[in-house]
Amino acid sequence: MHYLPNATRYKHMSYRRCGRSGLRLPALSLGLWHNFGHVDVLENCRRILHTAFDNGVTHIDLANNYGPPPGSAEENFGRILKEDFQGYRDELIISTKAGYTMWDGPYGDWGSRKYLVASLDQSLTRMGLDYVDIFYHHRPDPETPLEETMGALDHIVRQGKALYVGLSNYKPTEAGKAIALLRSMGTPCLIHQPKYSMMERWVEDGLLDLLGKEGVGCIPFSPLAQGLLTDKYLTGIPSDSRVAKPHGFLKESQLTDQKLAAVRALNTLAVSRGQTLAQMALSWILKDTRVTSVLVGASKPEQLLDSLKCLDNVTFSTEELATIDEILNR
Ligand code: NDP
Repeated sequence: MHYLPNATRYKHMSYRRCGRSGLRLPALSLGLWHNFGHVDVLENCRRILHTAFDNGVTHIDLANNYGPPPGSAEENFGRILKEDFQGYRDELIISTKAGYTMWDGPYGDWGSRKYLVASLDQSLTRMGLDYVDIFYHHRPDPETPLEETMGALDHIVRQGKALYVGLSNYKPTEAGKAIALLRSMGTPCLIHQPKYSMMERWVEDGLLDLLGKEGVGCIPFSPLAQGLLTDKYLTGIPSDSRVAKPHGFLKESQLTDQKLAAVRALNTLAVSRGQTLAQMALSWILKDTRVTSVLVGASKPEQLLDSLKCLDNVTFSTEELATIDEILNR
């Protein structure tokens, strides 16, 4: 059946300015790392994307290697884009990345100009696009000169294959150098994509300050710690969960008694705030105004609908924040 987007899709979403750029992103964005590969059910991917767009989630995040197999998330997304989103390209912010292993040999990994330019061309072909809105270097490369990697990002923008560029997984010192280089080339860094959740706090040690000072946006990934910061693992491992899937990156060994005890206590706090734990974990990230958007994953449309309700309450009392820290430091 022909997809007709919800006419009221922009009513409830808030859009936050991305650093000191002209671009605004939805407070909640959708990532296709898991649940969108050829191992997944295409009709479910389609329903999740419809749910996202129908609720003002205009930003979809991909990478060359998402699947499995690598590349298949871009292929599935491209197919759904073509079949269902004709005429809506200008209402979407689509990002992809390169930086992890993508093909054999010395040119399919890390941060050379050779790899980044070729990889983006492949991504565009898989998605059936002329350009992406944001192209990221996915992780720092300790062996390639930063000038070359940033020069490749600048080149890609000048080629018209990306409108903006970003960094992912760069620590504060290397991020500062990359941001300065990009600015000197006339292609400012739009955004940084770090791992950040209640359980993973390294960005609080300098990165958020840097991004705030430099006017660069921030879009934290794995805000639910891949599903751990929800109530789903409190009574065992559901058969349809990431932990239960052989290709899932969250492993049973990560569900330690200590973590599950913290999750149980956090869940009680979330309920007292009138939220699900997933909602509280997302609100907790959005309380910081230096965060542009929180980048969530979903294996079902219902999860995305649940997560979206975090926007109803993104403030925390001092006591609640202290309780969260106390629970996680036990
Ligand atoms: P999350 O921490 O949001 O985990 C998503 C998982 O949590 C879902 O697959 C689902 O698990 C569960 N979930 C989501 N919403 C709910 C809910 N409301 N209630 C209960 N469970 C829920 O993020 P991801 O780890 O998926 O990462 C998000 C995105 O970040 C990626 O898709 C990707 O775009 C980006 N990313 C970037 C990286 C980088 O290096 N730049 C690295 C990793 C991710 P289940 O499947 O078990 O149902």
